[in-house]
Amino acid sequence: MNETPRFDSYRRAIPDTLIPVRDDLFDAAVPPIYQTSLFLFESYRELEDVFSGRSKKPIYSRGDNPTVRLLERRIAQMEGAEEARAFSSGMGAIAATILAFVGPGDRIVTVRHVYSDAFRFFEKVLKRFGVIIDYIDGTDTERMIAALPGARLAYLENPTSMVFELQDLTAIGEAARRHGVVTIVDNSWATPLYQNPIAVGIDLVIHAASKYLGGQSDTVAGLVAGSRAHIDRINGEVFPYTGAKLSPFEAWLVLKNLDTLPLRMRHHHEAGLEVASWLNSIDAVTNVMHPAFAEHPGKRTFKGYGGLFSFEVSEQIDVAAFVDALRLVRIGVSWGGPESLVVPAKAALSISPETNVFARFGVSDRTIRLNVGLHDAKNIIADLEQAFLVATR
Ligand SMILES: *Cc1c(COP(=O)(O)O)cnc(C)c1O
Repeated sequence: MNETPRFDSYRRAIPDTLIPVRDDLFDAAVPPIYQTSLFLFESYRELEDVFSGRSKKPIYSRGDNPTVRLLERRIAQMEGAEEARAFSSGMGAIAATILAFVGPGDRIVTVRHVYSDAFRFFEKVLKRFGVIIDYIDGTDTERMIAALPGARLAYLENPTSMVFELQDLTAIGEAARRHGVVTIVDNSWATPLYQNPIAVGIDLVIHAASKYLGGQSDTVAGLVAGSRAHIDRINGEVFPYTGAKLSPFEAWLVLKNLDTLPLRMRHHHEAGLEVASWLNSIDAVTNVMHPAFAEHPGKRTFKGYGGLFSFEVSEQIDVAAFVDALRLVRIGVSWGGPESLVVPAKAALSISPETNVFARFGVSDRTIRLNVGLHDAKNIIADLEQAFLVATR
């Protein structure tokens, strides 16, 4: 029997420089970063065993990498899913997942106000390949269910991430199963801590790990979680061929930052509600779009809330002057990190109109999206208050 240690293959390649390395994790508290593109084989037999699927081992990091695998296993576990697959971005996960299930002539039922680049993927890419997209008011459960028969996919986002419209995942998931429609939910806002779509009958869950899972504004990453059969289909049909794999280092960043997810989410939930309640109480604000204030069954699946929501300001407020007057709260499009941020819809409405989801489904130019980061709610409120004074006409 061959007793040679695994890493002996290094020695054969570079005889003078090698110190034997034990092939284990040394009980490291933080997982190692396997910064390698390829994995070596001891023999023809081992290679054939792995190629044929008789035994499992990473081959090449565009497919599997041990550090990325740890993240995939962890997210699958958190979502109560059998399997998960990581991508280089949330959009990488969204595109590969949808492409694994649709072909020409297939119909996708989705919600109006869906994430802006998912909308562009539908309009610019999928439509070119003859896929039909139905945009429905997701808050209207009856209309959503009526659109399902004959559809291939239902693509949901509870809540949507500009106007925070809710969908009843339980009712839609149940009806979709009856009609053989595969359901996908973008769960980036609630995270696996505050909403588990799979537990209420949804098939696949998407995460923009660039947001709360990563939580530090230091990486762009995405994941999809679901049944082994569904993830196998994504792996078999699309994942290795579009090449949107996550790097080991970025997987490691997300893994590290997951350790603080419960603490961060508790802050975003509490501080978000405190700021939203304050906004709700002042005259300059005409509407606060936070799921906590909605009367809708789509709330039932939340165990807590994200800190991202929108509000509309009255005609007395000059939107540009308001965002320019903010000091602690900065202007920026992403969310989920430590920074508190605003995005005025007025600026987003200036993006070319034909693939502009905000223009298409009517977002008011009085809308301002606020990401309550890791700042104290009192400090965010003080900043908003002084900006309202400056921006009042
Ligand atoms: C940012 C975002 C995405 C896309 O994620 P990327 O990592 O930027 O590609 C998808 N859905 C929602 C709700 C997002 O906010």
